[in-house]
Amino acid sequence: MSANDAGDRPLDVKFGLPRDVKFCKRCVISNQRPASTVEFKNRNAKQAIDFDEHGICAACRYHDLKYHRIDWDGRHRALEELLDRHRSKDGSYDVIVPGSGGKDSMYVAHLLKHKYGMHPLTVTWPPNMYTDIGRRNFEAWLDGGYDNVSFHPNRRAHRELTRLAFLNLLHPFQPFVLGQKQIGPKTALRYGVKLIMYGESQAEGGTNMAEAFQPVMDPKYYTLPRAEQHNVSIAGLSWNELIAAGLTPADLANYIPATHEDILEAGVEVYHIGYYELWRPQEKYYYAVENCGFTPNPVRTEGTYSKYSSLDDKIDGFHYYTTFIKFGIGRATYDAAQEIRNHHLTREEGVALVRRYDGEFPDRYFQDFLDYIGIDEARFRQTIDSYRSPHLWRKSGNEWQLRHQVE
Ligand SMILES: [Zn+2]
Repeated sequence: MSANDAGDRPLDVKFGLPRDVKFCKRCVISNQRPASTVEFKNRNAKQAIDFDEHGICAACRYHDLKYHRIDWDGRHRALEELLDRHRSKDGSYDVIVPGSGGKDSMYVAHLLKHKYGMHPLTVTWPPNMYTDIGRRNFEAWLDGGYDNVSFHPNRRAHRELTRLAFLNLLHPFQPFVLGQKQIGPKTALRYGVKLIMYGESQAEGGTNMAEAFQPVMDPKYYTLPRAEQHNVSIAGLSWNELIAAGLTPADLANYIPATHEDILEAGVEVYHIGYYELWRPQEKYYYAVENCGFTPNPVRTEGTYSKYSSLDDKIDGFHYYTTFIKFGIGRATYDAAQEIRNHHLTREEGVALVRRYDGEFPDRYFQDFLDYIGIDEARFRQTIDSYRSPHLWRKSGNEWQLRHQVE
């Protein structure tokens, strides 16, 4: 299917994506889905997730292990041992739970505190622009009885980086992701806490299979050696280019990871609960509703059929819309793929949902988004279209169409 319409020359491929577009035979993800990125090195060249010789994606292969092979009792005992090693005797903080009041962070904090008698400090890098429902869930989280450290970066710098990341990478979420990934380890250093606990493992989406077999996150995702602190790429720009664009070293400090040396010396390690228990996102949702005051979206989330994930930032919809443009997979694809793997949907149902909702334009917060990054609609459209890879998109009249859709 890689031949072009004229049939003579192969179509151009952006971002180093696989030229032949394939969809997983079990779920609905395609082989264009990027694997985990070291976000502060991200220059838009993508490594895609693995597909095996039977046309099955790495995430589905992980779910074979998850449902049939992994010894969850053994892993549960390992979690108890880990927490026993870290639990404080005097009530001081013994674990950092990063999050902003989504279902997963609510679940992790509640589980650690109430089931395991830990003393979590919750840490928040707030969304770009809270939605009403996001703010309400964050408040409910605080009402749950945790201390919380929230860090609000210099908003001018944050908006400028978000604008540049949209223009240079079509990745407006990048500055948020950077801040959010680093706020946990940095706060751990500041408060002398060694243990950081996230929810889902990156093996769930097939983006980092090492996490299927090890509970600790590779420090390359959240540290840099001291000598390389300026060897970064943020919003598609090098340190010198960022400074030339008017950002100051102080502005940028919030997006640069902790030093490898400091993290090592302090003994800080990042774990995820998803290594220790059979993780099903829908169960976290029910748990968070029942125990933590979590409220789902009152209306269907644009671009998908679900109501309970990635609700708190008005930019969320643009994150998924930009993945739809760059990789041909949008929010409904991610949601349906996950629900098929966890046996909530058949593949047939998933395909129908993807074809109905994927790529739906996130109209609700469009003007907010344009105002936030300070560009007009014409520039937005022009930027979007410049990121459509010819091997994924064709133009028919005024309409852009995907060349390949899941079926
Ligand atoms: Zn799959």
